Formats: sequence, structure tokens, C-alpha cells
Amino acid sequence: MIGYLIDMDGVVYRGGELIPGSDKFINQLIKKDIPFRFMTNNSQRTRLDVVSKLERLGISVEEQHVFTCAMATARYLASHNAKATAFIIGEGGLLTALHKSGIAINDQSPDFVIIGEGRTFNLELVEKAVDLVNAGAKLISTNPDLSCPTPTGMRPGCGAMTAMIEATTGRKAFSLGKPNPIMMRMVRKDLSLSTRETVVIGDMMETDIFGAVQLEYDSVLVLSGGTKRSELHNFAYQPGEVHQTLAHYGRSAGILPDSSLVFN
Ligand SMILES: [Mg+2]
Repeated sequence: MIGYLIDMDGVVYRGGELIPGSDKFINQLIKKDIPFRFMTNNSQRTRLDVVSKLERLGISVEEQHVFTCAMATARYLASHNAKATAFIIGEGGLLTALHKSGIAINDQSPDFVIIGEGRTFNLELVEKAVDLVNAGAKLISTNPDLSCPTPTGMRPGCGAMTAMIEATTGRKAFSLGKPNPIMMRMVRKDLSLSTRETVVIGDMMETDIFGAVQLEYDSVLVLSGGTKRSELHNFAYQPGEVHQTLAHYGRSAGILPDSSLVFN
């Protein structure tokens, strides 16, 4: 059996737009009972938010199909300290995941300061985070992405926001999202797959493909997002396969019929 860990942004959609054919690919996985999880470094949205966004794009999945870096962060921290508390700079996806794992919010003497994706970032919160880290709270970042693509260009990612607190405190954050093997392994186990049954499909070399390489999963790079074919020679590690889009991969893997449309 083969199962897929599928990145979303740059693979299934770009911003608010479906990448042509990715809906057909996902629908075939469901029809053929092929196990998969969407594996995302976006900690802003809850599982339900993701399901609802996909629904708008014509892809009908369940909450169980979604695994976010906020969930990886919450589950990991809770598994090591059942009574952990945290101060967070982040949004609904992170808050929900922490609460589900039993981690309470505390802005006085938290065990952790956790930075996630979002638009609530301001200097007052950063100053508070810096004070708490200097007082002994451990600095955690839901994901290391420095920038995220937007329809008009780029926005600062969680890694860039975390960098401000790292620079001020001199402490380095521990990041749980892709390519951290902790998250990549959690998602595989969630599907009850073995290492050699696991295939990662993503658009970013530094997170999706590097994560797969570290755990010896098969990997597929799609060129519909943040990586151009001409950039591949810059990396010491390589994806197992390279395809234009998810639909192109689907055809070559026999998941989509040959007669289905392929877009360039
Ligand atoms: Mg991506």
C-alpha cells in the first residue's frame, strides 16, 4: 500500500485559486481508498477552516484528512508535559490545537512562548514574548518558513516573525513544523503507514522534500508552487520525481486516467 502526505499551498491551490486538476487527483484518492493527509505548515487555520476552504475549491474532505504544524506542536509539547502552559502569538488554528491537547494559555509564567502564523503580530506582543523568554519560557515556532507566497508577492512567514524574538533574546526557537521529522513521522503514523509506503508531495525543497529525504520517504516535487526546475541543481538532496502539477503526477502514477485533462 502507498499513502500520501500532501502539501497544500503551491500543490492543491495557490492563494485562493485551485491548481487545475488537483481536485480530480484528490477525488480519485478518496474513490480508490488511497490513504492521504494534507500536511501543512500553516498554523493559522483550524482543521475545519481548511476543510471549508477546500470545499469552496470543489474538494470535499473530512477534518481527519488535515494535519497542521499547529497540531504537531501541540501534541509534541503535551506529550512531554501534560500540564504545559503557553503564551502564544498566533491565531485560531494554534489556539484550537493547544486546547485540544490540554495546553492552557498563560501570560504570566508560561512553560512555552509559541509563535505561529497570523496577522495579530505587533510589537507589544513581541515585547511580552521577549520578557517571558528572558524569564525562562522556552521559545517554540510552529514552522520555520521565512516567507509565504501571496497573490501579489510575499508576506513574512512564522520563521521571520520568530527571528525578531530570537535576535532580541539570543535564544533559538525550536520549530516543530516541516521539515522537522517529529511532524513528518506523526503524519505517517496517523495514516498507519510504514516508511517505505509513504510518499510526500510538495512544492518546497527546504521543507517538503528535505523532510521526506531525512525520513527516507519517497518524494514528488511539483513545479506549481515555490520551486523552479532550474533551481534544483542548488540542492545536495533531490526529490524522487518532479512533475508540473499534482494532476501530471496523478497521470504518471495511474491514479488519474490517461484521458483526463492535463494542464500546463
Ligand atoms: Mg507549499
